[in-house]
Amino acid sequence: MASLNKICLHWTGGSNSPCATDLNAYHYCVDKFGRIYAGIHKPEDNLNCQDGNYAQHCGGGNTGCIGLSVCGMAGFDLSKKQTKYPLSQKQLESLCCLAAYLSFKYGIVVSGKSVFTHYEFDQKCPRQKRKGKSDIAYIHYLPNLSQNSVGNYLRQKISWYRSKIENNKYKFIKKGNYYEFFISA
Ligand SMILES: [Zn+2]
Repeated sequence: MASLNKICLHWTGGSNSPCATDLNAYHYCVDKFGRIYAGIHKPEDNLNCQDGNYAQHCGGGNTGCIGLSVCGMAGFDLSKKQTKYPLSQKQLESLCCLAAYLSFKYGIVVSGKSVFTHYEFDQKCPRQKRKGKSDIAYIHYLPNLSQNSVGNYLRQKISWYRSKIENNKYKFIKKGNYYEFFISA
């Protein structure tokens, strides 16, 4: 039986808040304030990617894969490392908390095989490697973190949040048109 068994972490390559294209491509988008916006497609839409009704976030790997994206990094490339819209710490913390929440909800193991960046996915996939994506391979507030270390850094954070979530330390709450995590009292 099909299951959701992977999470792919992205940046949008746009501004610091989600546009219509982003909301169509990812299941959740996180803005620079750490606010989480649900996309048009539900994670369950990616159980079957034959019907055209799914989030197309990870070329060659969309089936069973939840797509989360932090908004920003327009115009970025790994050689120049410049963008008008770098990622904020608040934003990446929120992304990791969300990934932890969903990994727990769907029973996805937090390891490099099942929770990975788009960059890592393309590096492992011969078909994609040539035109491989650079999300998420650079964090402006952690400039010494190499492109091959970002995935492990994020997974460590996700594991930390997951242990908190398993113990009910965070609540995922809807506020208007977005969601936020709150530390439970
Ligand atoms: Zn991507």
